[in-house]
Amino acid sequence: MLKTLFLNPPSFEGFDGGAGSRYQAKREIRSFWYPTWLAQPAALVPGSRLVDAPARDMSLEDVLPLARDYELAVLHTSTPSFPYDVRVADELKRANPRLKLGFVGAHVAVQPDYSLLASTAIDFVARAEFDFTIREIAEGKPFDSIDGLSYKIDGRVVHNPERAILRDMDVLPSVIDVYQRDLVIEDYFIGYLYHPYLSVYTGRGCKSRCTFCLWPQTIGGHKYRTRSPANVIEEMRRAKEMFPQVKEYFFDDDTFTDDLPRAEEIARGLGKLGITWSCNAKGNVPYETLAVLRDNGLRLFVVGYESGDQQILLNIKKGMSVERTRQFSADCHKLGIQIHGTFIVGLPGETRETIEKTIRFACEVNPHTVQVSLAATYPGTFLHKQALEEGWLRQDAGALVSGSGVQVAALNYPHLSHEEIFGAVEEFYRRFYFRPRKIAEMTWEMVRNPEMFGRRMREGAEFFRFLGARRNKGGESPGPGAGAPVSNSAAH
Ligand code: SF4
Repeated sequence: MLKTLFLNPPSFEGFDGGAGSRYQAKREIRSFWYPTWLAQPAALVPGSRLVDAPARDMSLEDVLPLARDYELAVLHTSTPSFPYDVRVADELKRANPRLKLGFVGAHVAVQPDYSLLASTAIDFVARAEFDFTIREIAEGKPFDSIDGLSYKIDGRVVHNPERAILRDMDVLPSVIDVYQRDLVIEDYFIGYLYHPYLSVYTGRGCKSRCTFCLWPQTIGGHKYRTRSPANVIEEMRRAKEMFPQVKEYFFDDDTFTDDLPRAEEIARGLGKLGITWSCNAKGNVPYETLAVLRDNGLRLFVVGYESGDQQILLNIKKGMSVERTRQFSADCHKLGIQIHGTFIVGLPGETRETIEKTIRFACEVNPHTVQVSLAATYPGTFLHKQALEEGWLRQDAGALVSGSGVQVAALNYPHLSHEEIFGAVEEFYRRFYFRPRKIAEMTWEMVRNPEMFGRRMREGAEFFRFLGARRNKGGESPGPGAGAPVSNSAAH
């Protein structure tokens, strides 16, 4: 085996979670997702090391000395972080010219030619699902025998055949051993999850076809491929022993509730373990299933409402009615299941009126917390293609972020400017959180829970700092080849 480094490259201060995050952006409050996509091949390559630079506050200077200690480096990149990730690759290669270096992630999977030609430092791109592609490289197999690999011969890009999609997900080793070996789990924060939390995938792919959503259209596909309930429950049993400090487990599958009987079976197993858990869900889970999940430790759902306007939901192929999510939300409230609701401003069909409608809808269904993102056009998605064809894409939107890592409004409509779309995010947050009902809820939460008091106070201060920075400098000018992150609400 080649001595292998898996690197989530350094980036902006406060960069959320790296390429493996659904929300690759400088967020409202400091938060980090686990680098699970990199941990998975790391679990397949004995003796490897996973370094998550943003979560560890590591700069380029901090990671450069690592270059000399390894024979193979695998960097996870994304559309917003790509320009800076190339710079990191250049510097690593300069520090160790013998280092074999490759990129993985959705951005390079859909544009392998452009990515490989971005720098002589990049030796290969492992396309789509890259777990076993990387293991074969680490085993030292010749490049021309490895499915799913793109690389260069004399400066010319060569693409090997696609790798067969993984069907038996139980063949993937657990990532929690890599977490224990290489990560500090207290580094990982998410505003709406207890801390410390621990997150894993129990399956890949999503049955839905939302036009903006990156993962299912580029890597995971539209079939929900899952690990067996027994496999998941055993992993959680071990996790509970290995990380007694964890307060909450999160299943970051695109849509954990895509297979309801399986979700119920896993829940019953988790109930016996007595753990608190949360997951991504679509807003259509029936009441009976909700009750089973709640009775077995479910605390919170992350739900992608996206919009309160039915026509927009149709435009983005959400496969969901506003009415259904309204009922689902009421059911969750009744059962005491919290919701973190995600919304997107600026989707096709957006007008001033639909923005107003969505803000009112959010206040009405009243998730415990919300995340409001700007519609982002990732290469490889239907929305990106549509925006190019319709002329909605701002030419200067580039890597979708400003020079300070804050998301920019990439779309501009004849009837709704990108400035108005950008401004709507702050208005949305203010109107959702500064309501007497929400203020009372949050205050009550802090009174009941002293730990939450300190946390919410800190997050509140961060939130205002973020809005100030966004207003003053962050929002409107895409950075020169912008160094990093952006977000696209990509849940459910
Ligand atoms: S937004 Fe959610 S439901 Fe829609 S495709 Fe993406 S993961 Fe699936």
